[in-house]
Amino acid sequence: MKVFRRHKLLSIPYLLIYGACLCFFVDFSLNLIEVNHLKDYTKNDFSEVRGYTLLNYMIDYSRLKLVKFVITLMFSIMIYMSISKIWKFTKGNYFFTFVLLVTEFLFTTIPFQYIQYSVFLAKYKPGSEYTRSVFTQSFFTFVGEYIGECVLLLFLGCFASITHLQKNPDENQGQNEERLENLNNDDEVIPANTSRGLCDGMFWVFCFISLSSYVVLANVFAPSLLTLEQNAYIPIVNDNISGPSIRNLTNKVGFPISNVYISYSQRDTDSPNAYLVGVAEKKIFITETLMKVVDTPQLCAVVGHELGHYVHKDLITGMFVSIGLMLVTSLVIRYVTKKSLVDFGIPNEMPVAVILFVSSSLFKPLYSILLPFVNSLQRRFEYNADCFSAKLGYPIGEALTQLFKSVGQTFESAPVYSHYYDNHPLLSERIEGIKSCLAK
Ligand SMILES: [Zn+2]
Repeated sequence: MKVFRRHKLLSIPYLLIYGACLCFFVDFSLNLIEVNHLKDYTKNDFSEVRGYTLLNYMIDYSRLKLVKFVITLMFSIMIYMSISKIWKFTKGNYFFTFVLLVTEFLFTTIPFQYIQYSVFLAKYKPGSEYTRSVFTQSFFTFVGEYIGECVLLLFLGCFASITHLQKNPDENQGQNEERLENLNNDDEVIPANTSRGLCDGMFWVFCFISLSSYVVLANVFAPSLLTLEQNAYIPIVNDNISGPSIRNLTNKVGFPISNVYISYSQRDTDSPNAYLVGVAEKKIFITETLMKVVDTPQLCAVVGHELGHYVHKDLITGMFVSIGLMLVTSLVIRYVTKKSLVDFGIPNEMPVAVILFVSSSLFKPLYSILLPFVNSLQRRFEYNADCFSAKLGYPIGEALTQLFKSVGQTFESAPVYSHYYDNHPLLSERIEGIKSCLAK
């Protein structure tokens, strides 16, 4: 079967397949290590049923992911081999995206979400009311993502066709000749001067500007967007117990206490957590659950940790890292548009949807290489924020231990798994980090 026009082993279709195999290899082996690591804990004694249940849930979840990786690999290779057929069948940017997203959702998302949210929760949290609501939520997340992708496509597509980024056939002649030269002699001849480029030339620059503007705007407006939810956030100054202590702390650091909130949001239910958002105006949110599980000094320690992120300007650095990733994405788009879609058997067109799909698929393996580096930087931020809180004299180690205990997590992921996927260090690593910071 002649699937791709050229059988060059370094052409984009083959790169996509190697990339899918790389992602599979990394994800599958790390999750296999994680399953075996977690299984060792089942021999331990558990003082609480909750801890044992959580452990078994996580083992089952990792096993489910192993199956998902196999299905995803097969699905991706199948899609990569039939891109030109899908494009020929759909013949339109929006329909192409719709078909791809729906098939991906049906094969690689819905069955696993169903097992995770309905079967697992029925097994581990019988009678749990929110099983169905979580499932519905995942469906709406898909619809939301789909609408988001369509809006992005509409935006990029319109831009490409109304500006000079869309070249007319005459302008495309040179590029077409170049494409022809790249073809092997035994392949069929592509008629020159028929190219109807929809995204050539500087399209990648436009993508970079749009993507990085999105990152900046999302970071700048995050605090305002979060607090849109009515009555979900109450300023901590109104809290008689915690307000005064937190005020001492924020005064020391010069953070406005009026920007510290208690979150009663649905999104934060059951999550004992605190987080700092925003790069211009910054706000700290403390979840209601956190307030319930820690005492006041521990609460101050957690807020001290968030203030550490504030003082170290971690969110700004993080934003630049995201912009760096957007640059990598845009360079992949540049690479794909330069190489053209000839190798897929789509020689005369450069459809925005296909270019974006191929580019984002090529970016996945690159991202899987970059992920541990990005995470190691984030983990550094966490160590430094813990250190900041500890040096202010707050019991951050105790607070973290209490947080993990409150959710029944008496076990840890395999270090290699955690170092690759997690942007937070393991509890034991953080406790060690705090000790060595205080010893300095
Ligand atoms: Zn943190």
